[in-house]
Amino acid sequence: PLKQRLLVVANRLPVSAVRRGEDSWSLEISAGGLVSALLGVEFEAKWIGWAGVNVPDETGQRALTKALAEKRCIPVFLDEEIVHQYYNGYSNNILWPLFHYLGLPQEDRLATTRSFQSQFDAYKKANQMFADVVNQYYEEGDVVWCHDYHLMYLPKYLKDYDSKMKVGWFLHTPFPSSEIHRTLPSRSELLRSVLAADLVGFHTYDYARHFVSACTRILGFEGTPEGVEDQGKLTRVAAFPIGIDSDRFTRALELPQVRNHIKDLKERFSGRKVMLGVDRLDMIKGIPQKILAFEKFLEENPAWRDKVVLLQIAVPTRTDVPEYQKLTSQVHEIVGRINGRFGTLTAVPIHHLDRSLDFHALCALYAITDVAIVTSLRDGMNLVSYEFVACQEEKKGVLILSEFAGAAQSLGAGALLVNPWNITEVANSIGYALNMPADEREKRHRHNFAHVTTHTAQDWAETFVSELNDTIVEAQLRT
Ligand code: UDP
Repeated sequence: PLKQRLLVVANRLPVSAVRRGEDSWSLEISAGGLVSALLGVEFEAKWIGWAGVNVPDETGQRALTKALAEKRCIPVFLDEEIVHQYYNGYSNNILWPLFHYLGLPQEDRLATTRSFQSQFDAYKKANQMFADVVNQYYEEGDVVWCHDYHLMYLPKYLKDYDSKMKVGWFLHTPFPSSEIHRTLPSRSELLRSVLAADLVGFHTYDYARHFVSACTRILGFEGTPEGVEDQGKLTRVAAFPIGIDSDRFTRALELPQVRNHIKDLKERFSGRKVMLGVDRLDMIKGIPQKILAFEKFLEENPAWRDKVVLLQIAVPTRTDVPEYQKLTSQVHEIVGRINGRFGTLTAVPIHHLDRSLDFHALCALYAITDVAIVTSLRDGMNLVSYEFVACQEEKKGVLILSEFAGAAQSLGAGALLVNPWNITEVANSIGYALNMPADEREKRHRHNFAHVTTHTAQDWAETFVSELNDTIVEAQLRT
């Protein structure tokens, strides 16, 4: 039988495109979570999204479209102004902070509603452009899977084209309490557009519940165990916790270059326990809180000062935004102070890196780590915690994990859960983790490892799509 066609629509295509000439492009596939999730599935998947570059001329657009087709990718072309308003503006400056409980930006609260309105208009316009491209490639029977907060209008626009289209929408961030969502000027329209989908998915049961209460309280619709109902029309709402391709990590650890790297790192840090943080440098990751807790731990445990090191990989993100620049200098200041206080001529307690690492270097770091620490203030899932667990079969290290990360729902029994705002609690957990006896570490690791290797990204994608197919069959039976 023919494979079912799956159109995956996300803001960014999983490629980076560099223009080499008037009509030539070089493309590199970025192997992120979604990509590996869909590699192993039984569908014929195509990607639709923005390639991350502005291509104003038709020659360039035609050449890029052709090059992308070989990678099963279909581009949506957005000009600079739309990107500025839809992507930097509405998506990342309004929805991202709001969905992570940081509230709406101050300027927008005080300014006239005009900048808000024009960003929202651009958001809708961009979503319509995505819908146009989907519609152009859509064939009857295809499943269309829309991703994330950038594309909340897409389900509605797709159904406007064809009410029989099978449409799913999945949110990769938290969905906040309805009391937070209420503050958004476009709160109702966004909910209604998402509800046009047949199936709406979240990482955790809590996010799904928040979404359903937002629909009941703000729209007055009915919440049922199945989802949200409006005048007999049901939108199915459910939790689908994402996973990782754990084999990709365990396989990498067998490679000679990774083994060598592991050996080097072990020598480099011999005699010291290694703590690791890996985060984009974003407010939601709670990096200052983490470092302050580490400082408190060193303050209270002088015997540990030359026996532990914290490696913090802080991947730069949105570096052109003043708030992010401020966070960077704030973190640098705290790290500088702590290294000044507790460093010696030969060693410092914190290695803070403003950079990303390649996949193999990251695997090696995960593997040699004694204690990984995730202190997100809010985080949709947090895949770093999963990746760390996947690389720890040898060491069986400890995971300190924020209770505000979606991963706390699945790794809670194996990890040490903390409230990142409680610096005392985090500092104590660091001590507890560093002193944990081997049998307790083993037991906790077993639990997490079993979860991470059995709830993979492929399972996640297949479960979502088959639930979407089932939902549609059930809806047809009802009518
Ligand atoms: N990552 C990476 N290079 C780095 C550091 C991290 O590719 O130098 C990857 C990491 O492997 C993980 C992702 O970035 O897959 C981060 O995902 P997570 O869910 O933890 O947080 P997000 O950045 O999506 O908020």
